[in-house]
Amino acid sequence: MNTERTGGRALAAVFTGHGHPFELREFPVPAPGRGEVLVDITCGTICGSDLHTWHGRRQEPVPCVLGHEIVGRVVAFGPGAPRADLRGEPLLEGDRITWTLAASCGGCFFCTRGLPQKCEHLFKYGHSAIAPGHEFSGGFAECCLLRPGTGIVKLPDTIADPMAAPANCAVATVAAAFRLAGPVEGTTVAILGCGVLGLTAVAMARSLGAAEVIACDLDPERAGLARGFGAGAFSQPCGLLPDLRDLTRGRGADVTMEFSGSSAAVAGALAATRTGGVSIIAGTTTPGGSIALDPHELLRRMLTLRGLHNYAPEDLVVAVEFLARSGDRFPFASLAGGTFPLVEIGRAFESATGRPGRRVSITP
Ligand SMILES: [Zn+2]
Ligand SMILES: [Zn+2]
Repeated sequence: MNTERTGGRALAAVFTGHGHPFELREFPVPAPGRGEVLVDITCGTICGSDLHTWHGRRQEPVPCVLGHEIVGRVVAFGPGAPRADLRGEPLLEGDRITWTLAASCGGCFFCTRGLPQKCEHLFKYGHSAIAPGHEFSGGFAECCLLRPGTGIVKLPDTIADPMAAPANCAVATVAAAFRLAGPVEGTTVAILGCGVLGLTAVAMARSLGAAEVIACDLDPERAGLARGFGAGAFSQPCGLLPDLRDLTRGRGADVTMEFSGSSAAVAGALAATRTGGVSIIAGTTTPGGSIALDPHELLRRMLTLRGLHNYAPEDLVVAVEFLARSGDRFPFASLAGGTFPLVEIGRAFESATGRPGRRVSITP
């Protein structure tokens, strides 16, 4: 651990806008203020949303430090900072942790109604402009200053950094999807989209005791991966309905989950859900596209349709416990896409762009 960081200087990769190279700049390491925790970053992984921003498909306030999938070690606590993680385990200097991708206030309209991810004062790591004294707000830097209202989870040593970092994004989002869907033991679950989220969902459905898991993706080459993560069947979108009919005596899936980001997959998920079933829409994170929906269908088939964006702190606990318990059972290591040092962040982003579905790691 690098306790000498306090009072010293540390590097951050500053993103100044699409088309500009990252700028590696040194800033004074802040002393943690009230409720804050200073963390030495050991690994940050490049998420699809970081790539969208880098390629100019998504706008973020600049200059900013990207990266929200982060693992690090506690360096120092500010006054009143949490001394226990979300599970109630004592938190000490040197502990290896990950944390929620956003900090919420705990007291606003949405926080008090079970939607902390929609907090009216939400702060998201890797998504906000830097300001003097607040430069260390993202994952692609040597350290990070955790804000009050951040949910922290200690990591068991058995989960390696490149696998642990996406816990606070993909895996926690998938855990939230299953929380919304309700128990899946003994059910048929259909997962649409076999990127990191979808494959994680296939594995989680399996580990939660789903009787059958069917994975669906446009790319037939993902069939092998999906089976490795526990899918009993794989279909391309055109074949999903007939395959599901065969599997379920014509009824459809009890639970469908959309992680593909295409509106056609949302329509496909609704069509694939059985009467009285639940459909979770979680992949369409950028606007655009619409689907035709006959309300009569919704009514007659008594469908429950739930949108999901981000997650609540409790979902991160489930995500880390899932990886600790079942991470070895599924080929999560095969999703790792290599490691680059912070000074080569530009190369890391190029590599991640060329390898969709893989998580590239950056280590300070
Ligand atoms: Zn992410
Ligand atoms: Zn709030």
